[in-house]
Amino acid sequence: MLEVRGLRAGYGGTEVLRGVDLDVGPGEIVAVLGANGVGKTTLNKALSGIVPPAAGEIRFEGRPITAAAPDAIVAAGLIHVPEGRKIFPNLSVHENLVLGSYRRGRARRAANLERVFSTFPRLRERRAQGAGTLSGGEQQMLAIGRGLMAEPRLLILDEPSLGLSPLLVEEMFGLIQRLNREGLPIMLVEQNVVQSLDLATRAYILENGSVALSGEARRLAADPALRRAYLGL
Ligand code: ATP
Repeated sequence: MLEVRGLRAGYGGTEVLRGVDLDVGPGEIVAVLGANGVGKTTLNKALSGIVPPAAGEIRFEGRPITAAAPDAIVAAGLIHVPEGRKIFPNLSVHENLVLGSYRRGRARRAANLERVFSTFPRLRERRAQGAGTLSGGEQQMLAIGRGLMAEPRLLILDEPSLGLSPLLVEEMFGLIQRLNREGLPIMLVEQNVVQSLDLATRAYILENGSVALSGEARRLAADPALRRAYLGL
């Protein structure tokens, strides 16, 4: 569904991504893993049209989107749930969700809202509450729910476990798995190597702005070099 070839991007004179190649196929959960500052968020911003790529190619469902504007990328169904939730704190839960269907999914807004509320019952209970007063875990649910309102063909989740307690991380990853089993392909961008490899079909490890290791998640989880570098084992 998503094909990235030789992607280079950065800020001003600083190159962050130095030729990234990766693919996400239908039905997959693909994990993109790496340490702090390795360029995971920059990759997501390039895929979403926020940071213009300096070189390389991005194709989504066969169509090039390398130089496409963010709204065109959303309209195509490539939906990015940003790091740090980035919800609208002064709007209610309901208003945040409705905004998720601003560019895509408007015709089925009511049905999609119902679907999000049945996936995240906590959001239904708190639909009138100001989003800024939700707990961290609830805000993460809201950010994902808002993404679902746009009827994603592929959902990119940027560090959904960030700042959550271990129990909530498990709950969040369980939900991600459920969404995937219902048919949604997911690209999971994470620092949490152990749990992400557990969840994902395949994974890419980013180092120095390019893919250092990739393959089946199960095989990578057993890779001695990876275990040494990322798990201290
Ligand atoms: P983390 O896991 O800590 O969020 P990351 O892998 O998502 O890290 P990025 O946010 O992509 O990393 O940042 C990669 C590099 O690009 C960092 O060195 C960062 O300082 C730099 N960078 C990010 N945004 C900008 C910007 N707007 N201007 C200049 N440099 C930036």
